[in-house]
Amino acid sequence: MLRFEHVTKRYPDGTVAVDDLNLEVAEGELVTLVGPSGCGKTTTMRMVNRLEEPTEGRVLFDGKDVAEHDPVQLRRRIGYVIQQVGLFPHRTVLDNTATVPHLLGWRKAKARQRAAELLDLVGLDPAVHGDRYPNQLSGGQRQRVGVARALAADPPVLLMDEPFGAVDPVVRERLQSEFLRLQAEVRKTVLFVTHDIEEAVRLGDRIAVYGQGRIEQFDSPAAVLGAP
Ligand code: ADP
Ligand code: ADP
Repeated sequence: MLRFEHVTKRYPDGTVAVDDLNLEVAEGELVTLVGPSGCGKTTTMRMVNRLEEPTEGRVLFDGKDVAEHDPVQLRRRIGYVIQQVGLFPHRTVLDNTATVPHLLGWRKAKARQRAAELLDLVGLDPAVHGDRYPNQLSGGQRQRVGVARALAADPPVLLMDEPFGAVDPVVRERLQSEFLRLQAEVRKTVLFVTHDIEEAVRLGDRIAVYGQGRIEQFDSPAAVLGAP
């Protein structure tokens, strides 16, 4: 589903963020990218939805170079969740979640119904949380809305960049369990960035352990845990 072929990313200031990277993610697979801050995880992810362009090599989505995909179409098929999800502050949770169905041209009632289903899917009660504004939610609840919104167009691929990084450990653990349950149901192809090895091992079908701009190990959770 996703494939990186000899991908190098050099920023204009000369920083080599990703260095000759090869990686393949199968359909329905959840791959975690783990490693210390600054080792190139976010850059790797942003080359999938064309927020960054590789300097060398190519990234394939569905067998086709992402550079040949229309960016708007591409981003509809690739959900994106980041650490600080940007919700519209003056729109309710339900309306925030209905934005994408609305953009897809769905009628208002249908878009709102879809939004309610999505909120339910991520463990929010549309009747309770739907009419609230983002500043009336906890951090964990806001991240759930971010996940719901990313799932709105039913994209086959999800990119998640430290989505649970800014919430406290207890909430994080709950979000992780809920995400695993959700993933068992929806089976997206997921790239999940984290600097937390425990999170990487808990969530990943396979784990890409990063060093400076490179993947040093790409293996199952058991193999990563068993490594010396
Ligand atoms: P990670 O996600 O693992 O923290 P990043 O991909 O964000 O790593 O960053 C990798 C390297 O690229 C770091 O050295 C970072 O400072 C650098 N970098 C990231 N974005 C830019 C940019 N826009 N311009 C220059 N250097 C950047
Ligand atoms: P605009 O500047 O008009 O928002 P973009 O190319 O930035 O145009 O976005 C086009 C579409 O892709 C919009 O529906 C936007 O919400 C969505 N989008 C923008 N950035 C991202 C992203 N990083 N990941 C997923 N979707 C995105």
